[in-house]
Amino acid sequence: MRPEILFELFKPVTSLKGVGPRIAALLEKVAGSHVVDLCWHLPSGLIDRRYSPTVAEAQAGVIATLTLTILTHKKPANRRMPYKVICEDETGKIELVFFHAHEDYLRKNLPEGEIRVVSGKLETFGNGLQITHPDHIGTLAEIDQLKTVEAVYPLTAGLTLKTISKAVNGALQAVPELPEWIDPNLVKREKWTGWKTALLSAHVPQSEDDLAPGAPGRRRLAYDELFSNQLALAIMRREMRKIKGRSYTGDGRLRQALTTHLPFELTNAQDMALSEISDDMRSENRMLRLLQGDVGSGKTVVALMAMATAIECGAQAVLMAPTEVLARQHFATIAPLAEKAGLDVVVLTGRDKGKPRQATLDKLASGEAHIAIGTHALFQDDVVYHNLGFAVIDEQHRFGVHQRLQLTDKGAGVDVLVMTATPIPRTLMLTAYGDMDVSRLMEKPVGRKPIDTRVLSAGRMEEMVAGIERSLQSGAKVFWICPLVEESEKIDLAAAEERHQELSHVFGKRVGLIHGRMKAAEKDAAMAAFSSGETRILVATTVIEVGVDIPDATVMVIEHAERFGLAQLHQLRGRVGRGDRASTCLLMYAQPLGETAKARLKIMRETEDGFVIAEEDLKLRGAGELLGTRQSGLPEFRLADMAEHGDLIPIARDDATVFLQRDPQLESDRGQAVRTLLYLFSCDTAVRNLRSG
Ligand code: ADP
Ligand code: MG
Repeated sequence: MRPEILFELFKPVTSLKGVGPRIAALLEKVAGSHVVDLCWHLPSGLIDRRYSPTVAEAQAGVIATLTLTILTHKKPANRRMPYKVICEDETGKIELVFFHAHEDYLRKNLPEGEIRVVSGKLETFGNGLQITHPDHIGTLAEIDQLKTVEAVYPLTAGLTLKTISKAVNGALQAVPELPEWIDPNLVKREKWTGWKTALLSAHVPQSEDDLAPGAPGRRRLAYDELFSNQLALAIMRREMRKIKGRSYTGDGRLRQALTTHLPFELTNAQDMALSEISDDMRSENRMLRLLQGDVGSGKTVVALMAMATAIECGAQAVLMAPTEVLARQHFATIAPLAEKAGLDVVVLTGRDKGKPRQATLDKLASGEAHIAIGTHALFQDDVVYHNLGFAVIDEQHRFGVHQRLQLTDKGAGVDVLVMTATPIPRTLMLTAYGDMDVSRLMEKPVGRKPIDTRVLSAGRMEEMVAGIERSLQSGAKVFWICPLVEESEKIDLAAAEERHQELSHVFGKRVGLIHGRMKAAEKDAAMAAFSSGETRILVATTVIEVGVDIPDATVMVIEHAERFGLAQLHQLRGRVGRGDRASTCLLMYAQPLGETAKARLKIMRETEDGFVIAEEDLKLRGAGELLGTRQSGLPEFRLADMAEHGDLIPIARDDATVFLQRDPQLESDRGQAVRTLLYLFSCDTAVRNLRSG
């Protein structure tokens, strides 16, 4: 249960004064729906209102806070003219200008004959000075609140700075003093203040330096977030490991059978990974290993071999994929091979219903099925395994940590192999997986030809279509990815459908279409048609993004490549170059091309090395552009910036490890503080897992 001290912070934003449903919706868009989300919404800029000259000294073009006597209100003759309020100080006169003014309101706030403090941008008009729509008007008593540096928050359409500032201030009022959870030595070494002070000060920047990620307040908050992430991962992992694993040695009979049916030999890298996995499986400890290998590096066959060993020992194995298409595809490649070795393979996804589903469940419960391939559907409540002992999770980044736990609850001491194609830099991997053991497939199967990557402007579409026609004549298959226009599936879809139609005018029936909104059977049909060669161009939204394997596809067209992140471009490009024929990737962009987008496309042209791309991705992200953390599989942080606070990750990891060794159940005083921290960052599942341990 969340500690009471945090209750206020986890109330909906509508609990704040002045926040109704309309504003709450806007706040939710930029920050989130709880009070605490507003606390994490740190300023992105500032307005310095401390400049307070006399009228005679005042410089036009800057923001200033002036103390003025209100002389007269000048109501315009017609509504199209501005309303003016003439003011002065002992050195001169200045006009305040209002369009579409409400006289009552202005007379109330700027009463003639009285003194008011006015803040806004100074402008010249003719020979005189003016301020159009002052940002703030207050009384002399309020001068200290006005003559300050004002924080500027990231906004969204319809949300004004005034409104959000007020809401954030309201949220900050709810911030309690919390006990310190960070190691006191670290606090001292970094010269950090307590949490509350750090948070409040982050919201009142006094200079640009205070806005930088390196500012002490911001670093501390980033650390809090990273520390809670590392703690949560470490607790989950520990709980997973608590259950004793099983020792699988196997007699090699199934592996042998599979090997004789493989159309190729394993690469050295595959052999090495497999032997690391086998060592883990042989040990009594529960395996939790990450198999990291670039797209096309051949992870699937490694997983299949490992599953075979578990099955040799009488266990069942599952392979879970993030999407229906991928699950079906894995089934299509694995089943024929596994069946030759005498294995029974079933597939289970969300679309399986009724009797056929029941038949599959029966086979899993009786143990008749050796391997189950599927999606989340594999661990729904009513799925029972006879003896689940080995789980492979493909393209892990689509799944959360607790889903991993859920699956492994289905069997006792299940060994887990997680496969990812995202070449995540080492430090970042810690944030996604904690200290998981890692095997890497650095070498690709032999015979791969480099992909010829070209970058061209959308203006050259006709030329490109002509090029495609030539490739088709020489037998090519083409993936054609349509742009991610907005966060709207509908719009993406329209673009893909339109492109499909246009290409159909040129290429006729040879053009297929696949997108996320299609029914499962339609998707299968589209994939099958492309696979068999009935269609030669497959127009797709990003549904094909991960893992799809059509070895003889040799051309990848990506429209609006400038809108994709590097990780995603790399994934997409990895769909070609899998067979033995030379492949091409055409990255089309539309003007205007920003600096970062330009840099991304250049990197894509220069290298195919996933690790180089990941490092560059990180650097570019540092330039302030978000490259879809969602696609890269990394957790999204509110306060920590991976490029700027990366050095804090290993520190947080070590702090978490040492701390949990000393106080495994979070019972000490610091342990209690750490619990609060975990709740503060919504790692509730981790805390709940403590109890069950
Ligand atoms: P990924 O690591 O992206 O999941 P896959 O496992 O889908 O890669 O393998 C990509 C392709 O490479 C598949 O068509 C697979 O059959 C093939 N492949 C895997 N291992 C080898 C190998 N040792 N030699 C040749 N081809 C291989
Ligand atoms: Mg794969």
